Amino acid sequence: ATEIKAVITLFGATGDLAHRKLYPSLFNLFRKGFLADNFALLGTSRSEWSDADFQAKVRESISKVDEDQAGQYDAFVKHFFYQPHDVTNPEHYDKLNERIAELEDKFATEGNRLFYMSMAPRFFGTIAANIKSQGLLSDNGFNRLVIEKPFGRDFASAQELNKELTETFDENQIFRIDHYLGKEMVQNISALRFGNTAIEALWNNQYIDNIQVTLSEDMGVEERAGYYDQSGALRDMVQNHIMQVVAQLAMEQPLTFTDQDIRAEKAKALRSLRKYTPSEAAANFVRGQYAAGDNNNEYRKEDGVDPKSITETYVAAKLTFDSYRWAGVPFYVRTGKLLAGKFTRVDVVFKKPLIDIFATPANSNDQKLNNNVLTIYIDPTPGFSLTLNAKKVGQGYTTEPIDLAFSQSAEQKDLSPEPYERLFHDALEGNSTNFASWSEIADAWQFVDVIRQVWDHEEPNFPNYQPGSMGPKEADELLARDGRQWVY
Ligand code: NAD
Repeated sequence: ATEIKAVITLFGATGDLAHRKLYPSLFNLFRKGFLADNFALLGTSRSEWSDADFQAKVRESISKVDEDQAGQYDAFVKHFFYQPHDVTNPEHYDKLNERIAELEDKFATEGNRLFYMSMAPRFFGTIAANIKSQGLLSDNGFNRLVIEKPFGRDFASAQELNKELTETFDENQIFRIDHYLGKEMVQNISALRFGNTAIEALWNNQYIDNIQVTLSEDMGVEERAGYYDQSGALRDMVQNHIMQVVAQLAMEQPLTFTDQDIRAEKAKALRSLRKYTPSEAAANFVRGQYAAGDNNNEYRKEDGVDPKSITETYVAAKLTFDSYRWAGVPFYVRTGKLLAGKFTRVDVVFKKPLIDIFATPANSNDQKLNNNVLTIYIDPTPGFSLTLNAKKVGQGYTTEPIDLAFSQSAEQKDLSPEPYERLFHDALEGNSTNFASWSEIADAWQFVDVIRQVWDHEEPNFPNYQPGSMGPKEADELLARDGRQWVY
């Protein structure tokens, strides 16, 4: 492993995300040798903690990562420091700057500074402005900003935020987290496509009938209810994660496998996504909200949810690309809470052979040929499967679908880094492949805003789906009217 040198300044160091994801990810990078002697993390938030208090919290957070490595806990937490800090007070940044400079000396980090904003988004712009005005940017190493989601709540607010950030950081210094891009199988989409003639040669409207993307959650809104009720599935899942997965499926082959080229192709793909008019949006999007089922869940009765809420907990949609490769191939996407299971998958449905030579009267084959389906399992168990038609064993000539399947072993799964570990590493290395660029975010918001406006002006027929189902019946009708159905 190449060792990374940097001082990381973390805003929101006492928060839930830092405790559950960020410290364990950094510990993994430490025990794998990506972080060694020359790094330090300066945690900040309003709590009046000492360095020792903070180190104790970090230790607690990593205590379950790998008990065999417990001997390394002390060595790791020695790199952690804490500064009480109010992000809205410019003077407080002067103290931060002093402490960063001390840590740079102590850990010989060559002036590299990474700022991580893990706080309520309303503070993002303020922090960036203060970093600049109080002179926290390094002039002899790199300056990078990692920023948590959500990136705005519509195009206008995202644009405003981006303007605020880019007054301090250049686009190539900004790393916008979308943890779906840190998933092993999302990254594997490129290997599958561009590493296999047998796949990529068929990856177009001549051979593909439709593509389906499903991000299914089996839990309700839980303790995030207050936030979720202001957001909804369209903003929370479709604008970011679904758009990012779809862009990887739809993009052309990048010239080289570098962040710049990959981002350029994804941005192009999203530009070719047809921006719906309000009436097209209404026709091609379905929303849902869950209702009481056997387990007595009802969204409107959750703590923190408005009893008359029209927030959607489910979205299904038909997306259309106006590109040479995809003209005529719908991308059906869906996501929702309290569905039949917790999984993420992509189903690529190929066209049937133009002629079914087995279905002749002379032949007793009453079985029609099935569509070949390539499934990419993203969660929980990464894998692929491809269903083919094969001859059924025995006399006569009947066909039946069979499955070629690959699934990651438990051992491989263990070895595979968590999304946050991978993304932290990439940001420290300055590789932005797995972060969303401004252009992609802008296109995704512009696409989603039209739907939001239509929905905000029409009273939905909520609640409309049962917990444990795969969503409202309108989601099935969305495909049925095209003569299709969901694979799962
Ligand atoms: P949190 O509310 O648990 O933590 C917020 C942090 O900000 C705390 O450390 C708090 O002390 C600090 N803070 C608040 N006001 C401050 C001020 N004026 N000055 C200084 N510090 C202040 O939030 P979280 O759940 O850790 O989320 C952080 C970010 O990560 C958010 O952008 C969120 O959307 C995103 N995120 C969180 C999760 C998750 O699972 N928790 C998942 C995905 C994205």
